[in-house]
Amino acid sequence: MYENLLAQDGARTSLLGDIESGSVPPALLFSGPPASGKLTAALETARILSCARKGAWNCSCPDCVRHRLLIHGDLLLLGKRSFPEEIIVAREFLLRSPGQSSAYFFLRSIQKLLARFNPALWSGEETKLAKAAPLIQSIGEALDLLDPEGLGGGIPATVAKAVESAYSDALSLEPFAPEAPGVFMIRNMEVWAQLAPAGRRKTIIIENADRMQDSARNAMLKILEEPPETVRFILLTSRRASMMATILSRSRLYSFAPRDEAATALVLSRVFKSDEMASSLQSYLESRIPFPPQLARVHAERFAGRILADLTDKNPATGPLGRALAQEAALAGKSIAELLDELGEATGGFGAKDKTMAGSFARFIKALLSVFSDLLKESAGEPAIVALVDRWSRLAREAAVQYGSLNRNPDLLVKVLVTSFGDGI
Ligand SMILES: [Zn+2]
Repeated sequence: MYENLLAQDGARTSLLGDIESGSVPPALLFSGPPASGKLTAALETARILSCARKGAWNCSCPDCVRHRLLIHGDLLLLGKRSFPEEIIVAREFLLRSPGQSSAYFFLRSIQKLLARFNPALWSGEETKLAKAAPLIQSIGEALDLLDPEGLGGGIPATVAKAVESAYSDALSLEPFAPEAPGVFMIRNMEVWAQLAPAGRRKTIIIENADRMQDSARNAMLKILEEPPETVRFILLTSRRASMMATILSRSRLYSFAPRDEAATALVLSRVFKSDEMASSLQSYLESRIPFPPQLARVHAERFAGRILADLTDKNPATGPLGRALAQEAALAGKSIAELLDELGEATGGFGAKDKTMAGSFARFIKALLSVFSDLLKESAGEPAIVALVDRWSRLAREAAVQYGSLNRNPDLLVKVLVTSFGDGI
């Protein structure tokens, strides 16, 4: 059990102890840094609790088979997650080293995304999925052609085609995944939890459980007050301090330690069969995405700097970060529109023309909001700057919503954004 949970001996020992003594609590909280194995451990816990036999790693009972493919009807997986990096790494791994483990890894990376569209979660709100439904269906059909158990050392042409199709559709589907579970999902989850499991036990896993809206958190809390006997909740967080105290008090804590470079190397070689070095698994994953967060930050700083440079005559007073950004932008001498044109060029129209860039818009807006937030912190004494930065943040957040829920063309959205930013200057 937990053979795939590497370099997390503390959490592994606690979990094994609870399982062996039959004392797994109704609610478990896995706390630790991003990409430290929390989800791996949660999915393995779900499999073991479901298993009709003894939960062995290679158990071939029907429950374990379905859990390994992440298609078990007794599993619900929700919560905020960034999908593209794992899907991109998984495809690269499968093509580089075709075999059972890479095929499972690829399938699971996409099933984690499909799980967010589980009909049980969307009951009553199906119309919101109208645009996503054809993608979901086509991914399902493509994945049916990929059988990890039947994959030897090479990939037959039909399977290779299915892999490419699932990959491309998954990246297109990703922007439809909800940022955080809405209250209707938590209510649907409650209904689901009350129904008897198909097997021994149901498991509900919520990633980034600290990032739920208040209404969803309160609904969640009510369920945790009287959890159904047959259900186990596993909440994951990398920010335990942001969890509601009342939720914390109802869950048993399992701590996941940060992995050092040696532990990361072990994970990379055992899981990905890669001899690369990385400071953390998170940075390895992020290094694979074509528009990583660090690059998004560079672009966001240039962008914010340009707006500040345009403002310099009217309101020069900002802190050191603001001044540095404005100075750099003034030296570069490019307008906001030119900067965004360059960025649109580099990101394939923010994914509109290049699907591997599907997440670039969301990452750019996120980086922009973080730059604005840093500017706000250092401009606390300057009401004019605070008001402006507040307005820019609101515009950026609105663009993110339009992109996420309305599936607007990201390339057009940034063009609109440029105009509205300009209005305030
Ligand atoms: Zn089993």
